[in-house]
Amino acid sequence: MSGNANNLVHQYNKLGDVQIVASEVESRKVLDKVLSELSQLDDNRYGLWLLHRHHLLSDGQFLLEQPAIYNGQPALVASAIDELPNDAVPSRWALDPAGKWQPMEYSIDPAVRKATANPGLAEIMEVVAGALLKNDLSSLLGFCVLTRSDVLADELNGRLEITEGSNSIVTLISNAELKEESALPTTWCLSGNQVDSCRMRDWCYKSSSGHVRIPNHQSG
Ligand SMILES: [Zn+2]
Repeated sequence: MSGNANNLVHQYNKLGDVQIVASEVESRKVLDKVLSELSQLDDNRYGLWLLHRHHLLSDGQFLLEQPAIYNGQPALVASAIDELPNDAVPSRWALDPAGKWQPMEYSIDPAVRKATANPGLAEIMEVVAGALLKNDLSSLLGFCVLTRSDVLADELNGRLEITEGSNSIVTLISNAELKEESALPTTWCLSGNQVDSCRMRDWCYKSSSGHVRIPNHQSG
């Protein structure tokens, strides 16, 4: 495995706990301003993600998201793998210390592949990088492809991630149900629609809630 791939593993493993990163972003009080600036891109296939992790990767490993069935419902399951399939494409990136985008997570979803083949993507990512660097958010937020195929493409509902052992499982959850849960938003859409229910797409349980089973999760 190349040194570069292991550098990416080290960058990934340094990502923080969801709750700590979320409160750090909140304390900066610039996310709304940045989202409002980026809403000019008005492209709901893409978004910002809260830089955090649920797993520790070993040298040479990648985090890959694949479609699955969980409790009888369509889901996406992300797990660490040793070799990327040929049809995998990056779905989440983080800026490295040199201000260059580095892939952190991958997907084999055809909708993600289509969105990463967009000839305008490099320019969008450059605009997003500029906004994050200008607002000193590059260690807290990254760039992601939000669009997914099939049922998980539903834009009227949120997607909730739970962690079980070494897997992250993402399932749909209604906005009404989300209100009942102790979950944090972890992705925001680059949509022109600034209504919260449209721009927040993915949610994760707070690390202190009883729902999280994350042996490797950082705490405190
Ligand atoms: Zn998460």
